[in-house]
Amino acid sequence: MSETEYYNVADIFGENVFNDAVMRERLPKKTYQKLREVIENGRELDLETADVVAHEMKEWAIEKGATHYTHWFQPLTGVTAEKHDSFITAPMPNGKVLMSFSGKELIKGEPDASSFPSGGLRATFEARGYTAWDCTSPAFVRQDAAGATLCIPTAFCSYTGEALDQKTPLLRSMEAINVQALRLLKLFGNTTSKKVTPSVGPEQEYFIVDRKKYLQRKDLIFTGRTLFGAMPPKGQEMDDHYFGSIRERIAAYMRDVNKELWKLGVSAKTQHNEVAPAQHELAPIYAEANIAVDHNQLVMETLKKVAGRHGLQCLLHEKPFAGVNGSGKHNNWSITTDDGINLLDPGKTPHENVQFLLVLTCVLKAVDIHADLLRESAADVGNDHRLGANEAPPAIISVYLGEQLQDVMAQLINTGAATHSLKGSILETGVKTLPDFMKDATDRNRTSPFAFTGNKFEFRMVGSQDSIAQPNVVLNTIVAEAFAEACDILEKADDFNTAVHDLIKQYATEHQRIVFNGNGYSDEWVEGEAVRRGLPNIKSMVDAIPALNTEKAVALFEKFGVFTKAELDSRVEIEYETYAKEINIEAKAMIDIASKQIIPAVIKYTTALANSVNAIKAACADADISVQTELLNETSDLLSETKLALAKLVDVTEQGSSMEEGREQAVYYRDVVKNAMDALRAPVDKLEMIVDKDMWPMPSYGDLIFEV
Ligand code: ADP
Ligand code: MG
Repeated sequence: MSETEYYNVADIFGENVFNDAVMRERLPKKTYQKLREVIENGRELDLETADVVAHEMKEWAIEKGATHYTHWFQPLTGVTAEKHDSFITAPMPNGKVLMSFSGKELIKGEPDASSFPSGGLRATFEARGYTAWDCTSPAFVRQDAAGATLCIPTAFCSYTGEALDQKTPLLRSMEAINVQALRLLKLFGNTTSKKVTPSVGPEQEYFIVDRKKYLQRKDLIFTGRTLFGAMPPKGQEMDDHYFGSIRERIAAYMRDVNKELWKLGVSAKTQHNEVAPAQHELAPIYAEANIAVDHNQLVMETLKKVAGRHGLQCLLHEKPFAGVNGSGKHNNWSITTDDGINLLDPGKTPHENVQFLLVLTCVLKAVDIHADLLRESAADVGNDHRLGANEAPPAIISVYLGEQLQDVMAQLINTGAATHSLKGSILETGVKTLPDFMKDATDRNRTSPFAFTGNKFEFRMVGSQDSIAQPNVVLNTIVAEAFAEACDILEKADDFNTAVHDLIKQYATEHQRIVFNGNGYSDEWVEGEAVRRGLPNIKSMVDAIPALNTEKAVALFEKFGVFTKAELDSRVEIEYETYAKEINIEAKAMIDIASKQIIPAVIKYTTALANSVNAIKAACADADISVQTELLNETSDLLSETKLALAKLVDVTEQGSSMEEGREQAVYYRDVVKNAMDALRAPVDKLEMIVDKDMWPMPSYGDLIFEV
């Protein structure tokens, strides 16, 4: 590990980003202005301008040591993809090479796309897919062991223009909410705001383990989570002692992560998170939705990459360890105008803030009507271990408003008008030297999947390794729809003031069932109240997927040009395939580990035990060997159970992989294969508690979690 270096963050922040300041400085004035216009108004970039931009971008990148460029895009696999091309062109007669990069190469790329999922959108005979520069996200140079590469954020589409990635629908949804929010603002007399943009701040959770130990766990290597593992004697109730001992190594790692991210213009603020041992969190300062989505990908890449340099491994899986708190991502979301008005800011007296109340009740309506879509947007294979399983947040979507807004809502519903807002009460610290704090009137509720937190909504269901694109596509589009429907009514009203009050009351009343301020983890909510309210409780990814192409969803997304029906159908197909594939890999990894590592280890142990029984008997015929015999019996029984469960898992996995891809196969993997996996894990975890630790073929939970 290198010596601690000290530096001024301001000096390095964004140094590897081709950002506005760099463009302003380096591009000819005319080119810069043209490009700004394209960025701000979403026009198409002409080739002549693109050529100039490309040239300057290349020059700048080469100064940073770049030898290659890549169109960086986010296909539907969840990770980013890229294909590197060198700047080098044909050698010149004098033996030197020319470094070139044209406008054409900047704005359009053609990766070999046949290996990315397309859900039937791109027949194999037309495997071409195109990447197109998203000039609203700045290009950047990434420096690592592979050298320096100019990365150009792009959208990825099929030959016929269908979206094959996360970015394209996101940009479309941002446009949808922009148009509808401007309509709404205009109704309230706003003539100054020109653009409305959703802002997103995702809080990223992750685990850090020692890389040497990680490499001894094939399950972690192949699937990102442990498929076997008995609970350590110490679990969640980690104390400061453990935390203290890992602090130095982790702190050095985090410092390095921050530095890398700052250079890329990601405003990371790492912090320790004490929920689970070895678990941490990184939150950037919020940014425009498309930038935030890119940055979150960079955060995930950087967390993994830098860990390697410190002999650590970063686990982004939602549930790396059964029985230990999992990881998620809190997607903080708000909508702001170009002149700085946050539409979700209630002000000091929300009851008087009619525009805010309309926006708020529109959000409630959107979330109530499209709860299934929001739930779907947070579905990934790993997140099934959290949502609706034995861990928070619950799979039921509800909205937490806090005491103050809840009270304003109640006034609206009961009397038709809100006349006052509760003030935050004084929170006495009881310590004389400390001031008494004003208790936040929008106090937090950590159990809510969708919480209003002061001037933003926090969607807490997203999985830790998932892209945040889809949740934001859904949020932007469903809220755009609610705004559009409100505007349709209000634009026609003779008396705006009366009409808007009536509409707010109507929405508040019709959608009050989605508001829940209580404990979202309690059985009384999950089994009782939520059921009475008729709120959907979608417990698995497989059951969430159909929400994507219901008639309601198709109508919504087509209305705002975010997805076509064909695109939605393709995504449904991809998600079923992904589900079956991932569980299939897990099952196969279990089979491999159980056959080649666990059963042989247990046999070694029982043999040693049997030998020792014989040896003791030979040495002393009267010795009490009941403990050894009992252990031998117990171990042998568990070993038979393991062998049987393994045979069953082999059998069902073979059947599953021979099924045709689609919903039926995914259901089979969830209901049959996963059960067989659980049945194999149970005896193995018991064996781990019996077998001599020196003979167990992999590090335990305790070794992984506490000894970083
Ligand atoms: P928490 O208490 O959940 O940790 P923080 O106040 O630390 O919440 O904020 C978490 C995230 O929310 C950060 O990424 C922050 O930048 C982001 N955030 C703050 N304000 C907004 C906003 N108006 N819109 C979107 N995200 C925001
Ligand atoms: Mg949070």
